Amino acid sequence: ADVNPSVSAQGSVLGSWGNKKWGDTASYVAKKLQSWFQTSDGNWELAKILSITGSESLISFSEEKVLKVSSDSLLPANPEILDGVDDLMQLSYLNEPSVLYNLQYRYDRDMIYSKAGPVLVAINPFKKIPLYGSDYIEAYKRKSIDNPHVYAIADTAIREMIRDEVNQSIVISGESGAGKTETAKIAMQYLAALGGGSGIEYEILKTNPILEAFGNAKTSRNNNSSRFGKLIEIHFSETGKISGAKIQTFLLEKSRVVQCTDGERSYHSFYQLCAGAPPSLREKLNLKSAREYKYLQQSTCYSINGVDDAEEFRVVVEALDAVHVSKENQENAFAMLAAVLWLGNVTFSIVDNENHVEPIIDDALLNVAKLIGCEADDLKLALSTRKMKVGNDIIVQKLTLAQAIDTRDALAKSIYSCLFDWLVEQINKSLAVGKRRTGRSISILDIYGFESFDVNSFEQFCINYANERLQQHFNRHLFKLEQEEYIQDGIDWAKVEFEDNQDCLNLFEKKPLGLMTLLDEESTFPNGTDMTFATKLKQHLKTNSCFRGERGKAFTVHHYAGEVTYDTSGFLEKNRDLLHLDSIQLLSSCTCELPQAFASNMLSLSEKTVPGPLHKSGGADSQKLSVVTKFKGQLFQLMQRLESTTPHFIRCIKPNNSQSPGIYHQGLVLQQLRCCGVLEVVRISRSGFPTRMSHQKFARRYGFLLLEHVASQDPLSVSVAILHQFDILPEMYQIGYTKLFFRTGQIGKLEDTRNRT
Ligand code: ATP
Ligand code: MG
Repeated sequence: ADVNPSVSAQGSVLGSWGNKKWGDTASYVAKKLQSWFQTSDGNWELAKILSITGSESLISFSEEKVLKVSSDSLLPANPEILDGVDDLMQLSYLNEPSVLYNLQYRYDRDMIYSKAGPVLVAINPFKKIPLYGSDYIEAYKRKSIDNPHVYAIADTAIREMIRDEVNQSIVISGESGAGKTETAKIAMQYLAALGGGSGIEYEILKTNPILEAFGNAKTSRNNNSSRFGKLIEIHFSETGKISGAKIQTFLLEKSRVVQCTDGERSYHSFYQLCAGAPPSLREKLNLKSAREYKYLQQSTCYSINGVDDAEEFRVVVEALDAVHVSKENQENAFAMLAAVLWLGNVTFSIVDNENHVEPIIDDALLNVAKLIGCEADDLKLALSTRKMKVGNDIIVQKLTLAQAIDTRDALAKSIYSCLFDWLVEQINKSLAVGKRRTGRSISILDIYGFESFDVNSFEQFCINYANERLQQHFNRHLFKLEQEEYIQDGIDWAKVEFEDNQDCLNLFEKKPLGLMTLLDEESTFPNGTDMTFATKLKQHLKTNSCFRGERGKAFTVHHYAGEVTYDTSGFLEKNRDLLHLDSIQLLSSCTCELPQAFASNMLSLSEKTVPGPLHKSGGADSQKLSVVTKFKGQLFQLMQRLESTTPHFIRCIKPNNSQSPGIYHQGLVLQQLRCCGVLEVVRISRSGFPTRMSHQKFARRYGFLLLEHVASQDPLSVSVAILHQFDILPEMYQIGYTKLFFRTGQIGKLEDTRNRT
């Protein structure tokens, strides 16, 4: 036999899913059942056991190859009849290779959706698959198909909202590029089709192209990556018709407006405007091609394969029309985009021997002034000086080149993010819930997934924190609450371990010594720098098990989804997110409507907060909440909202890193399944008792089916008699203090008989 020396089943790296609990190695090996073994490249292959000697097995795999391996390294494979089951709960052997194989089996046949107990797993096909549209919607509505699908989740959400009178949520998670935004749109499509009629559903669907244009960009991982988080709450009337909607967005990545890595792009909106604006608008805004703008020139990437920016521009305009943004306001919004682009082209020259600079009065500066509606001289002043409060006097300080560039970029970022918020506000006005609101709603959450790059900055810090919060929500629902209920009712329940991420959340949130408090504290110190921040973290958090100090300005956090090393460069600046009062005053003096609105928004925000130390040292700067504090507040609010809903979870999985169809990278999929706890969910659901009913209700509901008289009429005795009469096997139920607990499918028999009588 041909023994291949390059493969070894030893030293499996897949330790965490210790499969011991499942496989009684001896018995399935002895029976020479089909097994899994792991090759040296980490992939699992199906193997046949040829013979057994002591603790070793001789196996054959990939047709010709034969190898002697330790029997302990083998895992049981499922019988062929279970190939491609649509719920992982149905697998006889639940181990990592079996789950990977089952999902791949389905993926290869374009069945991208599978159930993992209560969770829908969606694997990104990276191609069009024929599973959507009105015929499918109709089929799921009539329940003539029961394959796992986003439509099925949306359908359950609608039904449960009506039946239980409880708000619902569809929580979509996954890495960047895994398909969250597409999945959210598919769910919206279904809700719109079932709850449509008033026309508002059309508007709701049209919010997608708008938010994607202004909030999505091409990144190295996803050509259409969302750079903000989004919750859309869709409201329904008593009759289940859509009555309105409300969108909340979270933390747009502002830095992308002024800086962008090669190979990536800034926000789609810029390229769309440059490519698609009709001649009259081009002239008004003095538009050039995208390649003429410095902010966009930082990356050599101007276009996306298969995307026509000019055509997308028309789609966005149509969508803006649909949500009733007036033509005038649309033009105002585009003027802001152009102003940001021209701001990037403003250059400076040194004007004295102290290296102070002033902007050069050229086309760029004049265009910005015209677009926002201010005097060129005022703009020039705002970009080259800063008013400082010293004692009771206001003095004017001139800026160096670096300061002037920062000021310019801060203005550009603010204009863009204010524009984004303003658009969301316009959309919300148009979608505002009508008078006949019932308060019933289905919310869809599409938030940026966990990110870990070679260099991770403040943005990843916030995004990953948000994901820790979401993960806790997921854990709470699927593990904690479930188990607590069993324990409370005193039933026999072997606890399922799950990765609790409370420690990591504490690391972020704890007062006074958590990452966020320390960051805020350092941000308000006049002499705080990224370096002093990093040093403080190391000083105070070194004993925390989720934290590790690194050399220089870096630190590592042990997230539920893996370790991420953050570089603190820019943390303080980004957390302060200051726009100098000079810039705000400039905006408020503008004759155009939008800059004025932006300025009054910023001023009202700064008034709401108490002046802190920054106020004293930083002079006339506006004082406001730090970015992390604001973000944390938003997230807490979000979690509160989600807690009051019945959640439906969808886990999106990215099968490869090249955004290509047909490639299924086992290691990559496994890492995602592990970090979001999919296997534990299956395990808990399978070994659990998902159907429950109180003794009273059970006795009332089925008592009349009893054939023999029961001596004692208390609910428990009646219930037990029913269980006996129907021959429900003892392992299929548990009797708790107050409730009966059943494994899946047990009540069906009783219900059938009940319906027939
Ligand atoms: P990010 O966190 O970066 O925003 P995401 O999880 O929202 O990522 P999407 O933008 O939804 O990812 O998906 C990335 C790409 O994958 C889409 O642009 C589309 O090409 C493809 N895709 C995702 N889901 C589907 C689907 N169901 N059918 C066809 N293509 C899909
Ligand atoms: Mg997205």
